[in-house]
Amino acid sequence: MGQLKRFIAEVLGFEGWKVEDWWWVKPNGVRYKPVSRVLVSPGTKLVVTVRRTWMGRCSECGRRCRKVHEHGELRGWQDLPWCGHPVEIEYAPDRLKCRHCQSACVELLPWAEPYQRETMRLQQHMALDTSSMPTSHVAARYGVGWHVVRRAERHALERWQATRSPEPLTMVGIDEKYLGRRNTFEDKYVTIVSNLQNGEPIWIGFGRGEATVRQWLDTLASEDKAAIKLFAMDMHAPFMAAIRNDKELAHADIVHDPFHVMKRAAQAIDELRRQLFFRGGPEMRAIGRGKRWLFLRAWEKCTPEQREELKRLLGYNGKLARAYQAVEELRGVLHAPDELTMLLGLCHVLRRIERRDNKPMRKLHDSLESHFKEIIALGKHRPPVGRVEALNNNWETLVRQGRGYRDLQFLLLKLRFAIANPIREEDGVLRFLALGLPVPYRQAA
Ligand SMILES: [Zn+2]
Repeated sequence: MGQLKRFIAEVLGFEGWKVEDWWWVKPNGVRYKPVSRVLVSPGTKLVVTVRRTWMGRCSECGRRCRKVHEHGELRGWQDLPWCGHPVEIEYAPDRLKCRHCQSACVELLPWAEPYQRETMRLQQHMALDTSSMPTSHVAARYGVGWHVVRRAERHALERWQATRSPEPLTMVGIDEKYLGRRNTFEDKYVTIVSNLQNGEPIWIGFGRGEATVRQWLDTLASEDKAAIKLFAMDMHAPFMAAIRNDKELAHADIVHDPFHVMKRAAQAIDELRRQLFFRGGPEMRAIGRGKRWLFLRAWEKCTPEQREELKRLLGYNGKLARAYQAVEELRGVLHAPDELTMLLGLCHVLRRIERRDNKPMRKLHDSLESHFKEIIALGKHRPPVGRVEALNNNWETLVRQGRGYRDLQFLLLKLRFAIANPIREEDGVLRFLALGLPVPYRQAA
């Protein structure tokens, strides 16, 4: 049987470990040794006991350690299934007395982290599955509880996180996000702080007021604040107040990214459209129905047919047509190559929408005017705001799947992983499947 043991050890794939014994366990718990020429029914569990052949390693410092403090009890770890059979690894881990770090800890195991009942590779697989399946489905697939899947996901993501070095924070994005209407939180919003350089979120907290941003600022040291050059945010007054009221951030500039400025403009156009078509009687309502998206779309991105239709709709009302043109001009201005062009362009847009008889556009005018400085600062800094969109898209997906996430730190970790490993690129897919790790499971023993 020596050859068979070697073969099973090879399949398990832990260097420095031998297979001592193996047997089957039926779903009703009855154990039996394999009998030749009798096929095993699917669902029968394979249990493999292993033994270390090398000196153990300390799980605190990772160094080899000869001295055994005490022998432990036999334990089992659920591993990846093998051809439809659940697999369990059994071993009695020693408690070692480490002469390097003086700790008396359980030895390092190549397949699992301390105190875990599942192997790391099973945790990786469960974590990956949860990105495309509800947690309850993953739990049913591996025959474990919901909390086991959640814990596995967290451990797998934390292992990924541990491999990453912190990036310097010089440009910061602050954004509010809606948690969705299904949750029962008192605060329906969270504030996400991200590093604009790589688009990754770094902090998350409930609420969208000045106090929320303060909570984050309080986690920073004075040197961290000194290194920050720029804050990009939407036109939300409490966020600006939080930055402006911090004396250590007096040197930092605030900009409003184009995404949020255009969102404000889109609201104004939409309000105007509703006024004209929906409050203009049944005939107008029939013409304007279901056309919201068309008015919000950039002219450049419209197909020739869409442009024709838009022209026809704008033909009904001069006010709406002028507003649409002004918003299109604003879109162009926000991408101006330098500060001066942007300044002149913005002044021109403001003149076009300042008439008081057009209420929605006048509201947009006042809001743009009061944030004039922060919009013009866009031309000076040109922050990489495109990354913010990756954050927005991933946020929508996560919240749609997750519904009520109770644990914001976990949500942050998930979001960061999804943004750091975009699955649109081929090597991103590979990194994603390896859960961001260069080698899926590092060797130990
Ligand atoms: Zn040690």
